[in-house]
This record gives sequence, C-alpha cells and structure tokens, in this order.
Amino acid sequence: MLISMSSLVWVDLDSKAPDHNLRGLSRGAKQGTLLCAVIKANAYGHGVAEIVGILPSADWFAVNSIEEGLELRAMKVEKPILLLGYVPLKRLREAVAADLSLTLYNRESLETLAKIGPVSRTTGSRAADVGEAPARVHLKVETGTGRQGIMIEDLESFVQQLLNTKGVVFEGISTHFSNIEDTLNHEFAEEQLSRFHDALNIVKRLKVKNLIVHMASTAASILFPKTHFNMLRAGIGIYGLWPSRETYLSARMGHSRVPDLKPVLSWKTKIVQIKMLPEGHYVGYGCTYRTTRPTKLAVLPVGYADGYDRALGNTAYVLMHGKRAPVIGRVCMNLTMVDVTDIPDVKLEDDVVLLGMDGDETISAELMASWAGTINYEIVTRISPIIQRRVK
Ligand SMILES: *Cc1c(COP(=O)(O)O)cnc(C)c1O
Repeated sequence: MLISMSSLVWVDLDSKAPDHNLRGLSRGAKQGTLLCAVIKANAYGHGVAEIVGILPSADWFAVNSIEEGLELRAMKVEKPILLLGYVPLKRLREAVAADLSLTLYNRESLETLAKIGPVSRTTGSRAADVGEAPARVHLKVETGTGRQGIMIEDLESFVQQLLNTKGVVFEGISTHFSNIEDTLNHEFAEEQLSRFHDALNIVKRLKVKNLIVHMASTAASILFPKTHFNMLRAGIGIYGLWPSRETYLSARMGHSRVPDLKPVLSWKTKIVQIKMLPEGHYVGYGCTYRTTRPTKLAVLPVGYADGYDRALGNTAYVLMHGKRAPVIGRVCMNLTMVDVTDIPDVKLEDDVVLLGMDGDETISAELMASWAGTINYEIVTRISPIIQRRVK
C-alpha cells in the first residue's frame, strides 16, 4: 500500500480533545469504572497511531480484528486490548501470545483455545508474566441485537464448559445495544439491559467472580449510568461526536448531564487552480453544472478516493477565508470544483476546510452526513487512512 496519497490533503487532530471527551463521558460513572476507548476502523478514521498517543485516560483499548490488535502491540501499546470481532481459529494462538483479550461466543473458538492451552507471551501489558500465560476471554451475550453473541438459553452450559477449560481465563462479559442511538424511546434498551441482568445472574449462580462487565457504548455511557457496570466501551464520543441527534436530545431533555464533546478532527486541503469561467460553461463529469454568471472557479485536489463522498457533488460547500464556497459539478476521484466568485482575494494554494471550523463557520460531520445521506460515523471512518494526520 502507498504510505501517503498527497501532501495537499490532510487531517488536523486537536491533541487535547480526545482525552477531554473521554473524561467527559466518564464523569457520571462511579469511581473506579474502567474506560475502554474503542479505536477500531483506524480510530473512526482519525488515525489510530495518533489517537492512541493522545488518550492517556484510556484504561483499555478495543479494536475489531486481530490485525488491528497486533498493529497496536507493534506500536508498543501495552495496555489491555479487547478484540471485538471474530478471530479465525487458526490465528487464536497468535492473539493469545500477544495478550489480546478475545470476545468469545462460539464453541469452536473455546474448543480451539482448550487445545492450544497456555501460550508464551510475546508482547502486551501483562507480558511481564513470565512463562506461559492463559487466553483471556470476554463472553458476548445476545440480548436483542441479533448479531454476535451466545443465546441466553445456551449461556449456562457455555460458561460451565469455559470454567472446565484449562488455559482460558474468564475475564469479562458483555453485550451491545441495538436501539439506543436512533430513538427517543428507550424501551428496547431497557429490555436488553434486563436480559443482560438475566445473563449476569446465570454467571453469578456459577460463582464466577471478578468479571469485567460492560455494555455501554457512547450513548449508554451518557444516558444510562445503570448500564455502566464496571467498564465503559465508548467510541464516537471520544472523537467529539454525538452518536445521534436523538442521543443529544435525550441528554438535553434531562436524562443526564450533557457532556461537552469537542470534535477532534478537521479535514483540509489547498486550492490547486483558480480561473474565471464565462457564463454558460459546464463544470465536471456529466455536465451536471453550468455556470449562470462569469464564475471564479477553484479546483481542489480531493475526491471520493480520499473519502470525500461522491454524493457531495452539487450539494456541499467548503470553507475558505471563513466563508462558504459551494461545490459545483460532480466530485471526481481526486478532484472537486467549487465556486469562489463571492469570496474576495482567493488565490492558489490557499487553505480550504472540508470538515471543521473556519472563522465563524463550521462544517460538522453531522452536516456533511446530512448532505451525503449517511451518519457522522461513516463520514469520519471513510476518510482515507493514507491521508496524513497532524496532531496539533
Ligand atoms: C463500535 C462499538 C462500540 C462503540 O460504539 P460508539 O457508539 O461509537 O460509542 C462499542 N461496542 C461495540 C461492540 C462496538 O462494536
């Protein structure tokens, strides 16, 4: 893979914001609640290496895949790491050797771990444990999301099998909400919480102790302290973004204290051409835009290959000199055109804000998401990982 695509497009990261946001999310939590920062998908597109370096308050990190976990260990991250996704059976040994805690919900995975037994650690927070070390697993319980997880009716026998398996430590138990972001009605979330309590009761009957119990993503961390248990598992809020308008409204309507979330990321570029087009001139592929007046055109070296969604053509605006410039014509693979006729003194190589603040103007991830017909999560995670990240 190329290491960098172009120095003309970059992402600035506010070095103070992620830790401020994480601490804000945990303010309603009991003393001693662990903070697990979800940094899957290249830290929601922010740049995983950069984000890890500016999140000192995180006790744990969570990623999706073993590849992401190994990459963190290669970056010398020593804190505990939870893999949220599936690890292929033939790679389980590697995951254990790197001290990556596993999310477990298949018998096949448990039986493979039983065969592997304790493994010499190569890296990790607890690598200092000399000699052979066990696999650490977090059971995932199906409570209504219809995704990964052990059905509650199978849980008891699963836990018994786990407790009878040498070389595997039962470290945690978790579940995930399916309908907490997109609604003001939290009945389904309450049902999921109640099913999770059923699961915890099963585990308690089997006399399992000292588990890390976790279910709260960002929305639950903010809205429902009763879902905190002893670890929060927050993603989007760390990046200063609200999970949804409904979560923000629920918080504002008095469910809870409203954390002050500061967006971490700005996405920027520079003008690579300025010229005058006469009235009636077409702009871009498909001739979807035609000037209605003599138009000062600026060409930007960013396009859908960088993650600047093609749906933004003829829809979005960008910021320069603190003012809005509309995107005209279609977004190309590596180029986008904007109308700067109404902005005085714009010149070659001036900075342009695609996402973020400029003077009194802001383009939020939510605004860009509304233009592109998606959600803020997708807008930031799709910013190409090979664009430079600069920590400011
Ligand atoms: C992504 C993810 C989270 C984080 O959710 P946010 O809404 O970004 O806080 C938590 N838990 C699991 C299992 C996830 O996949």
